Amino acid sequence: MRPLTAQINLTHLKHNYQLLKQLHGSRLLAVLKANAYGHGAVQCAKALADMADGFAVACIEEAIELRMSGINNPIVLLEGVFEPQEYALIDQYTLWPVIQSQYQLDHFLAYDWQEPVHVWLKMDSGMSRAGFFPQDYADAYTQLKQSPHVQQITKMTHFARADEPELSMTDEQIERFDQVCQHLEGDESLANSAAILSCQKAHRQWGRGGLALYGLSPLISGGNFGLKPVMSLSTKVFGVRELKAGVPIGYGATYVTEQNTKVGLIACGYADGYPRLASTDSPVLIDGQLSRIIGRVSMDMITVELTHIQGAGIGSHVELWGEQLSIHDIAKQAGTLAYELLCHVKRAKFIYLD
Ligand SMILES: *Cc1c(COP(=O)(O)O)cnc(C)c1O
Repeated sequence: MRPLTAQINLTHLKHNYQLLKQLHGSRLLAVLKANAYGHGAVQCAKALADMADGFAVACIEEAIELRMSGINNPIVLLEGVFEPQEYALIDQYTLWPVIQSQYQLDHFLAYDWQEPVHVWLKMDSGMSRAGFFPQDYADAYTQLKQSPHVQQITKMTHFARADEPELSMTDEQIERFDQVCQHLEGDESLANSAAILSCQKAHRQWGRGGLALYGLSPLISGGNFGLKPVMSLSTKVFGVRELKAGVPIGYGATYVTEQNTKVGLIACGYADGYPRLASTDSPVLIDGQLSRIIGRVSMDMITVELTHIQGAGIGSHVELWGEQLSIHDIAKQAGTLAYELLCHVKRAKFIYLD
């Protein structure tokens, strides 16, 4: 069997949830969108069901998958509905929709709800992506407040640059939000992972933890805050060869050996979600020793340097990222973010530790 394995440590997941909840105070949504950032939404939801105040997902399909597997915690739909017909399913499955546009609001108000709903009303406080403009927010709020279908309103907004806490943009977003919201009653939700870790002012009644829940700080300045990485992606060496100096390796012959070189072949490639752009010089751990990729990442295989790795051979354990090797280092090599790499993992065998 192919040895590529994504080991998911659910004990770490629970640790991270509790740590984030403690840092944020009050209540915390565990963000499980995109299959729990590639970790497996159902397994993560089950692991957190006893402790989580609620979950958040990107769409109704993701929410129904959780309900179908027996999850009864509150579930927020972070983007609200894409078509008005979804309100019937929200009613049926008791979900909490975000309302972030006039279109969503109009159809919400027009729907004949069986049960009053907890809605999350989103303001665009400066990210300019989704939500009501500050000048239109109170009006949307009032329309909901007057509706018999609304059980309560949680006021929310989202930050564009919370991962760079030294900048003033998050403070400016908070000021805009507070100016409008101070006269509107109800709970508030501002903080994503970055703001939970670095912005006390953003801590309100509900936090929304994503990346940090999986054990990674999104702050560009680094630090791990006691978080524990949940995913370890690992594989094995399944081929070894000795090459002389001057030999090209892999597609495009982008790497040419400079000396006698011992090369290992490992079972992982870009079809598994390992980024193709992280080629020569990206770090890998082989039997716990730091080495590097040489040549291009191909679809199913990667070539790594074994020359100086003691005892390395067929069957050697290779960590691609995880507890010893930070996924941030691979992301940097590939010009992307840990967020994207985690979401892309596939074809690996997922093993859940509890
Ligand atoms: C994805 C998402 C989050 C979680 O963001 P992280 O940076 O992963 O913590 C929070 N809020 C909203 C609206 C989101 O879409």
